[in-house]
Amino acid sequence: MFDGPEAFADFPSDAERSSGEVHEQAADAPGRPSPPATPRDDVPREESEDWGSPRIIHRPIPASELDRDAVVVIRRLTRQGHTAYLVGGCVRDLLLATPPKDFDIATSARPRQVKRVFRNCRIIGRRFRLAHVIFGTKIIEVSTFRCGATASSPEEDLLIREDNVFGTPEEDARRRDFTINGLFYDIQQGTVIDYVGGLHDIERRTVRTIGDPEIRFQEDPIRILRAVKFAARLNLHISPKTMEAIERHRDKIPRSAPPRILEELLRMGRGGASWESFELMRTTGILAVVLPDVARGIDEQPDRLDRIRRHLEALDARVRTGFAATAPIIFGIYLLPLVYPDGLDALAPEPVRADGVRTEHRIENLLQDIIPRLHLPRRDAGRLRQILMAQRRLVPAPRRRRFSRTAVARQAYFPEALALLEIQGASIESWTEEIERWRAALDRLPKASPASRPRTGPEDRSRSVPGEPGAGGRRRKRRPRRRRRKPAPPDAG
Ligand code: ATP
Ligand code: MG
Repeated sequence: MFDGPEAFADFPSDAERSSGEVHEQAADAPGRPSPPATPRDDVPREESEDWGSPRIIHRPIPASELDRDAVVVIRRLTRQGHTAYLVGGCVRDLLLATPPKDFDIATSARPRQVKRVFRNCRIIGRRFRLAHVIFGTKIIEVSTFRCGATASSPEEDLLIREDNVFGTPEEDARRRDFTINGLFYDIQQGTVIDYVGGLHDIERRTVRTIGDPEIRFQEDPIRILRAVKFAARLNLHISPKTMEAIERHRDKIPRSAPPRILEELLRMGRGGASWESFELMRTTGILAVVLPDVARGIDEQPDRLDRIRRHLEALDARVRTGFAATAPIIFGIYLLPLVYPDGLDALAPEPVRADGVRTEHRIENLLQDIIPRLHLPRRDAGRLRQILMAQRRLVPAPRRRRFSRTAVARQAYFPEALALLEIQGASIESWTEEIERWRAALDRLPKASPASRPRTGPEDRSRSVPGEPGAGGRRRKRRPRRRRRKPAPPDAG
């Protein structure tokens, strides 16, 4: 899926760098390069805070690989005298020859100054204010350089609660989570600006925290999930010290806000490497912290892992062709082997399994843990319950009471239930004809019917424009209650 070292064909090797053939500069301030510096030693410094001046590498990225709107935003900000760079995931992905999901900008301009430059801009965030510049359904996130919160002593509670002080580009780079995510790209100069050793780690395909992983994971334990996500999705390895700290601090993940944990789990499910992410979570002991029932279920019956692997691989194959997996589908895959321990093929007409527990109760017990643990929205939890229950009605069965496919297909949950069935069918290369019959039933529905529209949420809800197609998570407005007419007073009229 990912390019190997050849992706770095025009990337400087260590030898080139030390022979001085590479255009490498040190700068006092980014954007204003000073004369070339002596090459720094490139030993990874997980504990070192002393990064010195940035490495600036001339590495022009073709305009065709950049987002046109992001380029417009940067050009306009710089024309107004501000510094503005591409930052974070998009720079990382461009250097790894992977198409970026979105393009983020870091700038010296304050949110209000950004708003003054763009009419199509709104400021979001209470804790930390960000500017969103809106182009149709696309959002370019523009954040002001800021410095990270740091704890003054190791005994102190390191969890970050405040993170909203503006800072320099260097501080902004160093507050970020991983070195690969701490790079700036200056589109005007065609240079990558590296304060944190990110270029080194991109070349070596390594996930490494910026600074001491012991501190960085305690400050924000969600970074543990992010490390797994990046390693799995981008086919990177995790540096030994970062890995040790992951294992030492994984129990602190529940200190993070549940919706953030949920969001990272969903991103893993939707990122095209859901199996690699799941397996890395399991082997690092993270799964036992975030989804203990699933981890326990696998320990009790190891062949469940194989079922999950086949299903997640089938999901990844679909995601690569543009399928947007919803929360119920992703969690449905995790829970299926627990809900149907004997496999759907072995379904009895009466849904009571060998251990005497009804399917409904099994689902309910699992949801009772997951809903509060991850703040799974009620709507998703309800849908998850429905699509898990529906599976046993959708699989081919020899003896079954007469039923109307159209009536089943008309149910709002049906497209997701069918997607889950298709994922299972693909993973065992079976049920093809039955699935085709269900698909035909869905296609026969009038197009305007809600069930015929698959409810596939956007990749990242935080980035969707409310009111635009794909804007997930919007609550339907309640109709105002009709007021009861007061009875007329007895003496009226
Ligand atoms: P993706 O491709 O999954 O969106 P991303 O790197 O763009 O990956 P985002 O969650 O969009 O990830 O965050 C954007 C950037 O913000 C990151 O690249 C990183 O620099 C920074 N960041 C995000 N979350 C954290 C965090 N918890 N701690 C520190 N920095 C973070
Ligand atoms: Mg991103």
